[in-house]
Amino acid sequence: MLNYTPREYTERKAIVINPAKTCQPIGAMYAALGIHKCLPHSHGSQGCCSYHRMHLSRHFRDPIVASTSSFTEGAAVFGGGSNLKTAVKNIFAIYDPDIIAVHTTCLSETIGDDLPTYIREAKVPEGKIVIHANTPSYQGSHITGFSNMVMGMVKYLSQNSGAPNGKINIIPGFVNPGDMREIKRILKALGVDFIMFPDTSGVVDAPMTGSYEMYPSGGTRIEDLIDAGNSMATLALGSFASTAGAEELRKKVKVRPTVLHTPIGVGATDQLLMAVSRVTGQEIPPEIEEERGQVIDIMVDLHDQYQGKEVAIFGDPDIVIAMTAFTLEMGMIPRYVLTGTPGEAFEREVNAMLTTAGVEAKVKASGDLFTLQQWLKEKPVDLLIGNTYGKLIARAEDIPLVRVGFPILDRGVHSYFPVVGYKGAMRLIEMISNTLLERQDRDALDEDYELIM
Ligand code: SF4
Repeated sequence: MLNYTPREYTERKAIVINPAKTCQPIGAMYAALGIHKCLPHSHGSQGCCSYHRMHLSRHFRDPIVASTSSFTEGAAVFGGGSNLKTAVKNIFAIYDPDIIAVHTTCLSETIGDDLPTYIREAKVPEGKIVIHANTPSYQGSHITGFSNMVMGMVKYLSQNSGAPNGKINIIPGFVNPGDMREIKRILKALGVDFIMFPDTSGVVDAPMTGSYEMYPSGGTRIEDLIDAGNSMATLALGSFASTAGAEELRKKVKVRPTVLHTPIGVGATDQLLMAVSRVTGQEIPPEIEEERGQVIDIMVDLHDQYQGKEVAIFGDPDIVIAMTAFTLEMGMIPRYVLTGTPGEAFEREVNAMLTTAGVEAKVKASGDLFTLQQWLKEKPVDLLIGNTYGKLIARAEDIPLVRVGFPILDRGVHSYFPVVGYKGAMRLIEMISNTLLERQDRDALDEDYELIM
């Protein structure tokens, strides 16, 4: 399959082989799904929209609803203004969302479509809203698109009415609905009032009820997005996906931002809890302290399974940064750390972590999976951690894979369970330990094949 990847590494600038990212609109579409009664709208050709919906549907195993400006040759030549205005009219008349969140595509960006003007000129019914984000796919990645759409929500909606609401804003980053539910559970345990946006729980993990709901019950309410301008602070989880929205809140309505890691692992979860406690004055409740103690107990029980094992981590920058920190906490050795999303900050941050831990490693932003495979050919590791696309390398190099991140297209249920918080840390330890034990069992001689760990 990937058996012809050469071992000799050559520095490449002009070509990406087996990308470790996908395009901006996918992230924008996912963020838009996190607003209640929102219809994401793809301003481009039908093919783009189909691809983005299909990719999200395959990861979440739920229908992903979105509309498109349906560009043909005419729009490519004359611009997509009339397509968008017709789309806005039809969407409100036929599908009746409360809000349409428009994102651009390569084509509409290349034409130079002026979205703010088109939206101003569109006939938007009374009480309905249209917002937009520019998401040119030849820059950044799906994480940039997610970040841009979150920033668009703040730009269009958040207001300071002069009446503080006593809440904190949480921007969870590009994580699964299971992670969003877990963050909300922790905040509720602390007794904290919060506004989470976007919030795709109850949308892309909605239960089967026997009747089709075009707009399931989940998603951040528009009134909460407006009220986010009255909050006392914003916690942005994951610098790549969440900083832009938090910064926009600071600029527009003076809500103080704190940027944290995605709360994967003990240290990052501790930091989230301490930040919430600092801002709100709430104490950490005993049930959350108990969960932390359980993670430490599990780490003590299982450390001999993973301690000292070498690992390659790849995928989205916020998840990869957090997973690198967590594997270091576990005593593992992250040898290769790679993201497809551009950003020098990624390399700076990961290198600083590894230097502090005394680990020598290869670290790359704007990388691709071809590069990762070449590194692995040079010197293999014990475990891969990343998305579904790693399975091709896993087979070619005979290295086990733990699936974490986006997209996971070849397994189900993953999006319902968290990797964040102490519960998420327990789950990750279980996944990593069991995967290593499966490999140990597979390779064991009869006399070493143990029933007891
Ligand atoms: S044309 Fe651009 S926006 Fe459309 S699917 Fe391809 S990369 Fe994404």
